[in-house]
Amino acid sequence: PFEKSKGQHILRNPALVDSIVAKAGLKPTDTVVEIGPGTGNLTKRLLEAGVKAVVAVELDPRMVLELNRRFQGHPLSSRLKVIQGDVLKCDLPYFDICVANIPYQISSPLTFKLLSHRPIFRCAVIMFQREFAMRLVAQPGDSLYCRLSVNVQLLSRVSHLLKVGRNNFRPPPKVDSSVVRIEPRKPLPPVSFKEWDGLVRICFNRKNKTLGSIFKQKRVLELLEKNYKTMQSLQLTQDAEMGEEKMSADDVALLANMVEDLSMETGDEKEDDEMEMDDADMAGEGAASFKEKIMGILQQGDFAEKRGSKLSQVDFLYLLSLFNKDGIHFS
Ligand code: SAM
Repeated sequence: PFEKSKGQHILRNPALVDSIVAKAGLKPTDTVVEIGPGTGNLTKRLLEAGVKAVVAVELDPRMVLELNRRFQGHPLSSRLKVIQGDVLKCDLPYFDICVANIPYQISSPLTFKLLSHRPIFRCAVIMFQREFAMRLVAQPGDSLYCRLSVNVQLLSRVSHLLKVGRNNFRPPPKVDSSVVRIEPRKPLPPVSFKEWDGLVRICFNRKNKTLGSIFKQKRVLELLEKNYKTMQSLQLTQDAEMGEEKMSADDVALLANMVEDLSMETGDEKEDDEMEMDDADMAGEGAASFKEKIMGILQQGDFAEKRGSKLSQVDFLYLLSLFNKDGIHFS
């Protein structure tokens, strides 16, 4: 009856369902969004926890039918609204809390969809595949620290709550799971998300190389020089740019797609012929001096010998500000 393609793995351990609900810190005034309610085991507990409303978004019409049947005539059914549809495609209503045991294939786009939702929610408690969860919470120097960690942690505080073995589900999935709490930062840091991700993307392209060697690559220098010239020709003053340094919801939403392709990266370093370009390969004097400009910026912050895999949020923010101050942009 359950469809693998929709990631249908039903929670069958009531104690686990209870502790997920307990970790959400629900208040009587809360509107809760549940994603992928399936047969409604979690939904039932959410309603019983005494919240104002539960909005459950379920893709599979058969599950929607079953849910409606299960809660028909239930004393709390007036507080439940079931929306049939793909959570990635539908407009979510206002919500305070998100609780979900999701199909793992939508982990990354869903996370960024939630983080770009406005007004921003208070907290999300979500079951993810173990490896994805460990990437979300990874710290500088951890082997799973990656672009996903850096980007999600820019926007929120993430904490690992529970390890969940595969036998808690029916049918059991092939991987273990973890429940994670995501609390959006308020206020969000005042950076342009496109700029931020542009920088982080370059630093993590080869996360174990030094920034000095990454920023010497012809490909990277050409990109930055192109951005630099575009900016100059637009005659954007520092002041005018300041106005753009806010993070808009659209900005963050963009990231959902950008991160998707990399979220499950194995950490294998891609090989690249252009990797160790030296001055001889650079086209002319202009390129050489642009390269010196970039190297100068890295040295200012003592970044040349550092590696993306070891940089904290604060390091990335500082590096970005050094680049931007000298008119170097990543978007
Ligand atoms: N919450 C239930 C539980 O814990 O027992 C079921 C969880 S099951 C892992 C995931 C559920 O999400 C399934 O019911 C599946 O049909 C639904 N689903 C899959 N893709 C979806 C999508 N894009 N939008 C909304 N629901 C989706």
